[in-house]
Amino acid sequence: LQESRGTAPVFSAERLAAYASIVGQEKMSELYRLGEALQGVKVQQINSARFGGGVAEMLYSVIPFEKSLGLDVSWDVITAGTDFFVYTKTLHNFLQGKDNDLDLSGHRIYWETNRNNAGLIRDDAEIVFIHDPQPAGLIEYISPEIRQRQKWLWRCHIHLSHEHENVFHFLEGLIARYDLAVFSSGKFLPPWEGVTPAVILPYIDPLAEKNRDLPGETIRAICHKYGLEDLDKKPLILLVSRFDPFKGHHFALEAFRLVRRELPCRLLMVGGTASDDPENEAIFHRLQEEARGVSDVLLLNLPPDSHVEINAFQRAASIILQPSIKEGFGLTVSEAMWKEKPVIGGDVGGIPGQITDGYNGFLISPGEKGIAEMARRIRYLLLNPAFAREMGKRGKEAVRERFLITRGIRDEMMIFDSLLS
Ligand code: UDP
Repeated sequence: LQESRGTAPVFSAERLAAYASIVGQEKMSELYRLGEALQGVKVQQINSARFGGGVAEMLYSVIPFEKSLGLDVSWDVITAGTDFFVYTKTLHNFLQGKDNDLDLSGHRIYWETNRNNAGLIRDDAEIVFIHDPQPAGLIEYISPEIRQRQKWLWRCHIHLSHEHENVFHFLEGLIARYDLAVFSSGKFLPPWEGVTPAVILPYIDPLAEKNRDLPGETIRAICHKYGLEDLDKKPLILLVSRFDPFKGHHFALEAFRLVRRELPCRLLMVGGTASDDPENEAIFHRLQEEARGVSDVLLLNLPPDSHVEINAFQRAASIILQPSIKEGFGLTVSEAMWKEKPVIGGDVGGIPGQITDGYNGFLISPGEKGIAEMARRIRYLLLNPAFAREMGKRGKEAVRERFLITRGIRDEMMIFDSLLS
């Protein structure tokens, strides 16, 4: 798997040393100590997409990192048809509070697909770590003897909104069977008893292709390829997100429309497909229609492995927007802050955990109300570049402190350790 992306299956000594130079030797030594205690422990991570979206993004770094520390970690992805992903995306949207008709008859495809994937589960795994609702049903199909030997963790990466009781009932029955449920924010803990919850804030890998330093010429060449020239005269405002109903593309476009009347700037909205997200194309086309007639807007739908391109756009941008109306965490916020960019983000889900309003970024109201606020903040940042730079620097330090992979790996290993002891 890692070879297919040109990365070693474990990180090299140089790479581990490079983490130490970013976070300090003390933090790395702590990881080595935890790794000693967990030598050879068999962990199986399972999700529903190899590419696209925040979960795949994290797993690409977590697997080689934990292997480098001595754990026997593997990553499997369930196989499923379009019907299943249409159903689970509806479930995902419903869990995040989108008022839609959740077709409960779709459960059949949910359980069938999980049953068909049950053969993925490693009998020898000591810890089975399931990500998000799609593969959560696998636990139903494990034999009692094997289940008894294993610890099962369910990790929820989405913004659980507490409005829909019947979805919570659906989840409750499922999650109660797990030994531990991990959430991305204390705000998402479910309202029922009988689940042991934990919180792991998400994290980015500063050395991944998405985040590593890039030479100026690479950034310029990539911008040139997409027609983004003269960025000093027409600064770039960027939104990176899957084309999804909660990511706030429409609000970003409206705010840009207001600012563009007064100041030269351009808007790039870049997204891509995730194999478990069937909504991408329709939302992309709708947005294209909306953007018709607004000058200086570029919409790009890129393949999900366009990490260097996204890295370059984030580095070329003057301001980064993430005006989500629901957000499990929003890795794109930390990615942008790590690149010293001021981020204007929706005050929802995991975003306020990353941005301290007015200090290392700006928070705005989610939805229509946020359009004028966003436009005001964009104008302010465009007119005060020294302040924008300072804000970006503070953002980077906040990420170094709290949102790098080294902290995430430590949190995970501490959970593994406590589950096994
Ligand atoms: N991403 C990407 N290409 C895209 C859109 C997003 O590589 O076209 C990446 C983005 O850089 C981030 C992740 O996908 O690393 C999205 O994670 P986030 O937590 O922001 O949102 P999610 O997609 O998980 O809801």
